[in-house]
Amino acid sequence: MLLLVDLDGVVYRGPEPVPGVAAVLADRVAAGDTVIYCTNNSSRHRSEYLHQLESMGAPVQLDRVFTSARATALELAAADPPVRVAMVLGARGLARELRDAGIRTVPPTTRGLDRDPDAVVVGIDRHLTYQRLAAAMQAVRDGARFVATNRDPVYPTADGLVPGAGSMVAALETAARRAPDLVVGKPGPTLFEAAARSVGRRPEEAVVIGDGVLTDIAAANRVGARSVLMLTGVTSRAEAEAQPPERRPTLIAADAAELRRALDRLAQGHAAA
Ligand SMILES: [Mg+2]
Repeated sequence: MLLLVDLDGVVYRGPEPVPGVAAVLADRVAAGDTVIYCTNNSSRHRSEYLHQLESMGAPVQLDRVFTSARATALELAAADPPVRVAMVLGARGLARELRDAGIRTVPPTTRGLDRDPDAVVVGIDRHLTYQRLAAAMQAVRDGARFVATNRDPVYPTADGLVPGAGSMVAALETAARRAPDLVVGKPGPTLFEAAARSVGRRPEEAVVIGDGVLTDIAAANRVGARSVLMLTGVTSRAEAEAQPPERRPTLIAADAAELRRALDRLAQGHAAA
């Protein structure tokens, strides 16, 4: 099976591994499955996940980590016409992913505007300033494509909720007075489509493992993939069961042992919820 696996709330919670999940995934890979990690995080280059996942015993290869930054870079490089110069309202990891895909990057400054960017790519920007927002707004008004890595309004940290990329997207949307041309991350389909394509598969063949019913599971249903909702993160069983049928996961797993059984069932073709 092709497993598209969310990270935070599934494989780990902050710095702590979710007990047993890495071993379940390692066993699936040993049995012939393909695991691709799919995260809306836009701030880190995919290489920054290798050590963390390896240290937890999770099976990982560099090109099997799909952040929204990586998926955005591949989409824009393959777009028609392709993006050649991108202004980055976001983190260094996002800029590095874009450069890896052959896209030149410029900062959201007047000097960046001088390079006539054909896209403005927005991710979480912990150095957001009025000047950076103003330059991004000007580039969009000058005709650059407006691309959002994701629209997560907030995300959880050890210190509580903090603003996510969606807060920066909303600021630029308001200033530029138009919506993004493309939103890559979950709950949209693009992240899963790009991840599946990278291994020559189709997203509807995949099994999504995620903790967010409004993000991971919504994206799974959007692309026609089966899914396992893990109750180890942001969604409770009551919240999942309150969803209308078309928004529910295929199966629900409270922990790694239930995940193992759920994947066994799906591998045998018993997909009934
Ligand atoms: Mg998650």
